[in-house]
Parts: sequence; structure tokens; C-alpha cells
Amino acid sequence: MRVLLIYSEPDTSPYYLQSPMECLHLAAAIENQHEVQIYDQNVDEQCLDTVISEFAPDVIGVLFAMRCLAASYRIAHQFKHKGYILIAAGKYPTSKPKECIETGFDIVFRGNVEDTLSDFLDNLSLKYPFVNPKRVQSSGYFFKDSNGDYIDTGIANSLEANSYALARHLIPQKYHRHYSHGFLIGSKGCLFNCVFCTSSGTGYKAREPKAVVDELEYIVKVEGHKAIHFGDDIFTYDPDWVIALCREIMARQLICNWSVNSRSDVPSKHWLMFDWMYQAGCKIVAFGIESADQKTLKNSRKGLKINKIMPVISRVKEAKIGIRCNLMIGLPGATYQDHLSSIDLMEAIQPSQIVASLCIPYPGSKMGNNPEQFGIRFKIQNWETLLEKDYCDPNQLGQIVEYKNINTEEIIQFAETLVQRLEPYGYISISQDNERSECPEKIIKTFLDKPKLPMVRNESGRRDYYRRALEPDWIL
Ligand code: SF4
Repeated sequence: MRVLLIYSEPDTSPYYLQSPMECLHLAAAIENQHEVQIYDQNVDEQCLDTVISEFAPDVIGVLFAMRCLAASYRIAHQFKHKGYILIAAGKYPTSKPKECIETGFDIVFRGNVEDTLSDFLDNLSLKYPFVNPKRVQSSGYFFKDSNGDYIDTGIANSLEANSYALARHLIPQKYHRHYSHGFLIGSKGCLFNCVFCTSSGTGYKAREPKAVVDELEYIVKVEGHKAIHFGDDIFTYDPDWVIALCREIMARQLICNWSVNSRSDVPSKHWLMFDWMYQAGCKIVAFGIESADQKTLKNSRKGLKINKIMPVISRVKEAKIGIRCNLMIGLPGATYQDHLSSIDLMEAIQPSQIVASLCIPYPGSKMGNNPEQFGIRFKIQNWETLLEKDYCDPNQLGQIVEYKNINTEEIIQFAETLVQRLEPYGYISISQDNERSECPEKIIKTFLDKPKLPMVRNESGRRDYYRRALEPDWIL
């Protein structure tokens, strides 16, 4: 089979742009048996029609999360019934397979199908309905049979899928200058149960440190990135693994700046790990604090005690690593007053970066399955419409979503108050900082910044939204 894997463009301006990891994962699983090409709609100078007519794929796979929904559906509308087998894969299709089929995709991959994908492709027919259900024994596939009935073999959950060395060589070198930083994943999944998170309860599995550093070395030496983000959900979960990774980076004398995500309740017996991280190039640890109100954290099943936060943050600062704090607005049960306690905490911590996002019940999270149970009501049911309206726009927010314990005006007031109260400490809003080539020491971004970031198109009509300095040493 000739397979074109497409990474579609996001519907609203992103803060950064990184290489298409999920395409590279799937490509790695099939490239020995099938001919694979990757098309990144964000950065390729050729338009998609040209690429398709030149490569003449049998299969067009679009990999997307919710933020790329409208663009991905446009691809389905454009190429359905044109003789290609159209496949949807990624986080959104995994949660909403039926919607994807109704939009025009022929098959949906649910979860991690890497282990069985090559065989699945071998068994496809080039004629509709493409799939013979009798030949599909594995989980992860959703399609219609010849009677028009849906066949769903469930979600493929394989932590082993993370063990594939990504097919990074399939990314054309010309793409790399457009990516804001390098990106890789050392460990997969999370054992915690936060209700708003799509990684909740997915298990945990780390790759061999040597294999991870092989990939890091490739990113530095071949892709040419000096700033790299580890996308692991909880990078610091296994301190022995972290230290082994740091030792390997240092042994190879790899010079790069990197950032990670972490829980903020790392036990004190593991704090030495932060010194290793600093020595190996770690510049930022991002903590998902979400709220400084204990009741709100409990409602969100965050499993985090407020009194654990400050000692860990202090120790990371002592290790000379920068801090990013992620806050969430509109968590279950949180009132306006409860939100204000998070501002007090930010004043006390004064991290390098503060990010305040709206709590959105994404499909695939516990909250997404039943938003009203968690005090969130959508006034629009269709995610595509919802995203096109841009739920981050304060003028639209009240018509789109309703939070039981905090109203729209209070949500906006909280975001504005957060910025106003932090400004005297030297924080600069990301939307006021578009042309700067160096990062300020303290930066703040709230959901209100998103609509202010321009979605600029260059002369050829391509979106050119990543206008901030490339390769900053403070990524995230
Ligand atoms: S928010 Fe973080 S700790 Fe909670 S489930 Fe998601 S990845 Fe795990």
C-alpha cells in the first residue's frame, strides 16, 4: 500500500508548532512493509492536492486532535469518494469514531494500532467497503461493513506502542526550520485520575533511557534543534529512570535545553533528581497545579495536596531550573473566590511562566463523557462549530459554554485580574510579546491571549502563525 499520513493544521493560532509525532509513530510501524510519505499541512510548501496527485496514495490517513478538527474534516470532505481509502486517527477520532465516519472517513483507528497496522493494511481491498470484517481480529478499528452496519473492535491500548523508534527520517529536512522546537516522548501514560485529562488512568511505561537519548541525539544533530520538549505526561514519575536518562545525555555531551511536565508532589527523597536534570540541560519543569483550592483539586480528582507544592517548587528553583505553573479555570465546584487563591499562590511562587487555560471537557476525558456531572454545560453540541466559533474568544464564551459555579464575566475577570496582579512582578503577556526575539524572564498566558495571536497567512496562502523567536531556550 502507498500511505500518505497527514498532520492537519490547527483551527486557531497555536502558541508553538512541533513535528507530527503521531504520524511518525504510525509510519515507524509500517514503513518496512508499505510505502509511506508524511505531509505536514502546517509547513509543507506544496498544497495537498499536488502532493496527492504526485504520490498517488492508496490510503490517506489524517491524524488529528480536537484542535485540528475543522481542517481535518475539510480534508475528508475534499477527498471522500475519490478512490482513496480515507482513515482518521488520533485522539479525537478515537473518542468520536462515528462522527468521523459520518463526515466522510472510511475507517477510524482507535488508540494505538501500531502492533497490528501493517497486517490490517495488507488485508484491505481497494474497493469499497475496503475492510473485510472477518479479517479484523485486533482491537483499534472502526468502520462500516457491506451492509452499512458499524463494526467497532474497541480501543487498542498498548503502552508498548511507545517503544517504536519514530520514523523521523521521513520528515523532510526543510520542515524543521518551521518547528518551534524538537519534541519527543520518553515515557507514556499516566496513573493518576484527573477528570479533565485524556491521559488519566492510561498506565505508565518508560522507554529504555538509551533509546530515548538516541532519539534526542538525532533531534539535536540531524534535525538541528537545540530546544527540546519532552511530551511525557509525568516525566519525573520514576526518578531512577530520570537519572539514568540524564547520565546518558551527559555521557554523550549533548548540548541542548529541554523542558518537561511533572506532578508537583514529588517526594523529598527523590529531589536529587532535579540536580541531575539541571546538569543534563533541563531548563523548565512544568507543574500542573491547576488550582490552589484544595476542595477544587479534590473535585477534579487531582490527587494533590496543596501543602506539597511549595517545598517541591523551592527545591526545583534551588536546582536552578525554571518553573512553569499551569492553572485551570472552571474546574468542578470552583467559585470566583476559589480561583483567586490561585493568584495568591502565583504571587508566592513567581514562576518563569504562568499558563491559565479554560477547563474544557475534551472527548476522551472522564469529564468529556458527562460534562454536566462536573458542572459544565455546552450550549453548542457540535465540536466543529464550537471550535470555529473559538471558545477562547471572550465575546463568544457565554454563548458556547456555561460553568455552574462561576459565570462568564467572572471567568474573564479572573484572567484579567491574574495578569494585572502579576504585572508588577515583571510578567509580560504572550500576546503583547509577538515580535520579541528573546524571552522575557517572566511570561504569562491566559486563554484571553489566544484570539489576540494573529493567524497570519504568508504570500503563498500558508498559515504563518509561529512568529515568535524560533528555538528559544525557554520552550513550552
Ligand atoms: S493532569 Fe497530569 S497527573 Fe492528571 S491525569 Fe493528566 S497527566 Fe496525569
